[in-house]
Amino acid sequence: MKTLVIANWKMNPQTLAEAKTLFDSIRKGIKNTCPELSRRVEVVICPPFIYLSELKTTDSKLKLGGQDCFWEDKGAFTGEISTKQLKNSGCNFVIIGHSEREKYFSETDEVANKKIKSAIKSKIRPIFCIGDTLEDRKRGNVQQTLTCQIKKGLRGVRQSEVKNLILAYEPVWAIGTGKPCSANEVQKINLCLRKILTKFYSVKISQNMLILYGGSVNSKNARAYITEAGMQGLLIGGASLNAKEFIKIIKEVAGS
Ligand code: PEP
Repeated sequence: MKTLVIANWKMNPQTLAEAKTLFDSIRKGIKNTCPELSRRVEVVICPPFIYLSELKTTDSKLKLGGQDCFWEDKGAFTGEISTKQLKNSGCNFVIIGHSEREKYFSETDEVANKKIKSAIKSKIRPIFCIGDTLEDRKRGNVQQTLTCQIKKGLRGVRQSEVKNLILAYEPVWAIGTGKPCSANEVQKINLCLRKILTKFYSVKISQNMLILYGGSVNSKNARAYITEAGMQGLLIGGASLNAKEFIKIIKEVAGS
């Protein structure tokens, strides 16, 4: 099974020219420095929507993903992008429920649930982000919070559908702070998530679920999340905007 490395560019970079340069540097960097890579790692770039069709290339090994989506297929929903439109723009993945959506747009797990169902219908793999806050940690509520997010986010998602889903554990306090969650702690969360998935689905679904870690990943800490914490991949924000650092992370992961 390939390890997933997903880049979330967020609202960067500022011009199409810069986006193309970054995309190309990553593509070439992978080709030149990690020729073995495509057998071991799947790299997905999630740029702002407006760059998607421009970055869609048939020969590139890099896959594309959206950073969000809307749950309806079409219609009068000003400013929104449907999962069908994402699919038609070359996306095979979409990030759903990122904590920044919750923080700035008051998105709930119920909203994430509708988006997840739409992504599955459009044959795009949803990357469902869940994670605890510092408050949850202080109160000893981590497991309860994660259980609740999974319960609400995956309500009505059948066994046959959930197979296409990817879970991303992103503790809110670790995103963009330079304070990553330790591999040891992520390993514990890994076990906890698999227990929750067994309860809601089955042992088989739980064992086969791809679970990623995200939150201040860099080239120094990346490998431990795969080798020590048992994650199937990484979701990377800040470090994915620096081609050299991002390629280093991919190399670390490919070598693990
Ligand atoms: C993210 O936003 O999903 C993320 C993991 O960001 P960063 O790597 O910058 O912490």
